[in-house]
Amino acid sequence: MNIQKVKAYGTYAANEPLKQMAITRRSIGKTDVELEVLYCGICHSDLHQIHNDFGHTMWPVVPGHEIVGRVKAVGEHVSKFKVGQLAAIGCIVDSCKTCQFCEHDTEQFCEEGTTFSFNSPDKYMGGEQTYGGFSDLYVCDERYVLQMPEFKDLAAAAPLLCAGITVYSPLKHWNIKEGSKVGILGVGGLGHIAIKIAKALGAEVTVFTTSDNKIADAKRLGADYAVLSTDTVQLQEYNKKFDFILDTISAKHDVNQYLNLLTWEGSLVLVGLPPESLEVGAFNVVYGRRSFSGSNIGGIAETQEMLDFCFKHDITADIELIDVEQINNAFSRLEKGDIKYRFVVDLQNNI
Ligand code: NAP
Ligand code: ZN
Repeated sequence: MNIQKVKAYGTYAANEPLKQMAITRRSIGKTDVELEVLYCGICHSDLHQIHNDFGHTMWPVVPGHEIVGRVKAVGEHVSKFKVGQLAAIGCIVDSCKTCQFCEHDTEQFCEEGTTFSFNSPDKYMGGEQTYGGFSDLYVCDERYVLQMPEFKDLAAAAPLLCAGITVYSPLKHWNIKEGSKVGILGVGGLGHIAIKIAKALGAEVTVFTTSDNKIADAKRLGADYAVLSTDTVQLQEYNKKFDFILDTISAKHDVNQYLNLLTWEGSLVLVGLPPESLEVGAFNVVYGRRSFSGSNIGGIAETQEMLDFCFKHDITADIELIDVEQINNAFSRLEKGDIKYRFVVDLQNNI
């Protein structure tokens, strides 16, 4: 396997700033696409990984998994992509391709282990970790590369590659449609896109936020109602109101107060990844046959479906576009919750 040196931004240890480094990627193979990275979003999962919140970060780590780029080269057997066109890479860059989950377009559950776009053992590189999108190029098998519609603001579309699919997939799986009553917990990167997608699916949307400065903004984003979740009296007014609640909160919180807002047989679906365990009180699910469940990103075909849906409905993220030199400041602001609602790094001629 030929390899090439690529410039990237990453860190060698938890709590150290990201800095420029040289990483190795495989050279383009017969079914590979080589993407010049244009934009890459900053997801809270990148922050969890650089803090080693889950205890499995492989160092050095180069985060970034909301990658929009332009095709720089294609392998001789590539049929879906041409040099010069826009394309995108999200969270998944490899899987076994043959297990029941890969065969049914849910590569995120691959029985042999999904290879994620960063911090995963890379089969092509002898198990060395994959390196993410904060770099000048990415090489990936065309099966995992997305066709990128010509969004008016391409940078603002980058967050769809993780935040978009992570909220779209459960909204579709739990059949959210015209008239569904949907609650969204947390108005961050995922939460603000969830408002837009749930509205486009026809739902009545209520958001629950700990930030009073997001109440008016949530309505601007399309929410029908916005509630300050620290106000327990207000919360009780929503008892048994929701068919479905999407929980995007990144830190430990009490899910029981939200389970009580579900109607009979309603579902609360966790997509946020608080590093600590959450406790569920028996009576909050037993009563009313409620479900507490979870969802992990979405497969490649569904990611493509989501991109096309968002293009059709003119949905992108509200972003702050930054240069790569501002990346450490962006991570510390994300940690403090000081972002409306997603940072995107401009990597063109910039690294
Ligand atoms: P984000 O932009 O930081 O948003 C998280 C939001 O959670 C914050 O804006 C805040 O909303 C709320 N929050 C934070 N701390 C809180 C606390 N202590 N109590 C209550 N609410 C709190 O993060 P993100 O990028 O949207 O990601 C959200 C979570 O989803 C992260 O854990 C991330 O790792 C995870 N994730 C999971 C998947 C998956 O496939 N399952 C994919 C991507 C990301 P308010 O200010 O409105 O209260
Ligand atoms: Zn993500």
